[in-house]
Amino acid sequence: MDATQILTLGLGLEAPWILKDQHLDTSVSPHRLDLYVEAERGSLYPCPECGKACPAHDFADKTWRHLNFFQHHCYLHARVPRTKCPEHGVKRIEVPWARPGSDFTL
Ligand SMILES: [Zn+2]
Repeated sequence: MDATQILTLGLGLEAPWILKDQHLDTSVSPHRLDLYVEAERGSLYPCPECGKACPAHDFADKTWRHLNFFQHHCYLHARVPRTKCPEHGVKRIEVPWARPGSDFTL
């Protein structure tokens, strides 16, 4: 397993989300780890209400902070879509790393 696979597991990432890039800044103390998560272009996302796969309506850049990830200060950056469900309209989706019980905070 390489570092990307370990991080992907640690974050609980699942399709269509992938860890695209990572940057560890060792010039600060504690070290700062920036993670960049992306979904593949053209992906469908489950509507938060009914789970139906819907196209993205728009995206918002968001950053989460993880308090203690491998002893580093960790920031996770992602463009989070809102789905456009024919039944429920435009909704912000839930991302796997921000589920209840996860240590990520916006
Ligand atoms: Zn729906």
